[in-house]
Amino acid sequence: MSGRQSAPAVRIERVPRLGEVLGQDHVLSMLRQGLERRTLHHALLFVGPEGVGKRTTALALAARLFCASPREDDACGDCAACVQVAAGSHPDLRRESFAVDDRGQPRESMVIDQVRGVQLFLGAQALAGGRKVAILEEAHALTEDAQNALLKTLEEPPRGSLILLVCHNASRLAATVRSRCQRVAFSPLGRRTIETLLAARLGVAAQDARLGSLYAEGGLAFACEPARLREAHEHASRLLAAGGPRSYVDVAAAAKDVLSTPRGVPLELKLLLQLLRRRLRARAGVEETDLTPPGKTGTLLDALRDVEATYAAVVDLGRNANRRLAAERLWLRIGERID
Ligand SMILES: [Zn+2]
Repeated sequence: MSGRQSAPAVRIERVPRLGEVLGQDHVLSMLRQGLERRTLHHALLFVGPEGVGKRTTALALAARLFCASPREDDACGDCAACVQVAAGSHPDLRRESFAVDDRGQPRESMVIDQVRGVQLFLGAQALAGGRKVAILEEAHALTEDAQNALLKTLEEPPRGSLILLVCHNASRLAATVRSRCQRVAFSPLGRRTIETLLAARLGVAAQDARLGSLYAEGGLAFACEPARLREAHEHASRLLAAGGPRSYVDVAAAAKDVLSTPRGVPLELKLLLQLLRRRLRARAGVEETDLTPPGKTGTLLDALRDVEATYAAVVDLGRNANRRLAAERLWLRIGERID
């Protein structure tokens, strides 16, 4: 029941501040009001798309609560408590992420022992004399047992405790868990906000920040690795522009490239789906953006079929179907259309 059962928390260089969270004004004003009036609910469920600032906001809120000398209603970033939050060593803050297996590799779930660890932690006295805060960073991955165990704490929280559930798929949480938390809904981010975050905050080169913002679909989830995104973008665009595979060798080669990741849905496929969807929208006269692939001859129906073929592959791979067959089937179907 120790913290070692959880994947190490993502390290941060300095403590985030609420004032730095972009594009979530309604969330910030709600939290600030709760802080000011001391009416924060003991369990907050942060929900919204991946990469919109939920975890950052949770950490900023914890830092604000622990900070010895808050400025303008935000953590100062310099006091001992702020430094401890940034270093991951604050005694009254516990962050839990995915559980780890015997080899220390992250699993795709958060398990009951982690919840029990959080309960012991919250039940103990606050060492710094203030509140105790637990952040469950992948709450959508809590197993059923873990959720059942958590219910008790949500119903009867130890005095002074604050539980922050960070979740990008609230439908995976039992209704009983959801109903015992106050829901804090985060919005998708606009393109300009994403470009600013990537370039100004994360130091991404302007060109990559722009590409990232075009693909981001409301969050930073896969825009944060610019080199990987650029490579996948070039690959997806090349495949689309090539006019489609014409021989089995071409099909096999294209399929091999798409299987760049051993599990789940490869980034290339997600980007391809976006490119095709944009083309479909452009043909339907709905949207034209920088990313819209150059129009090949073809009808709206052809474009729709391409999207459907890619979507079917995404679903197949998400279900761990035979990866090679799923990818080859996709390229054959798209090849037919593009030829
Ligand atoms: Zn401080």
